[in-house]
Amino acid sequence: MAYIISDDCISCGACAAECPVSAISEGDGKYVIDADTCVECGACAGVCPVSAPSAE
Ligand code: SF4
Ligand code: SF4
Repeated sequence: MAYIISDDCISCGACAAECPVSAISEGDGKYVIDADTCVECGACAGVCPVSAPSAE
């Protein structure tokens, strides 16, 4: 299962910069992960200041 970003996201962009497959983009009010692209590496969760990304 791909990672998902919760509503806790403050749109800092740190996760998008760390994603090795560029699966993260800025969405409406928060960043979003493309489930078909995510390889579940966990890098986004590791850099997020508010722990918004998590495995489904
Ligand atoms: Fe990108 Fe890895 Fe986060 Fe998936 S888990 S969105 S591949 S950084
Ligand atoms: Fe949102 Fe966390 Fe990504 Fe920053 S690192 S854009 S707060 S999910």
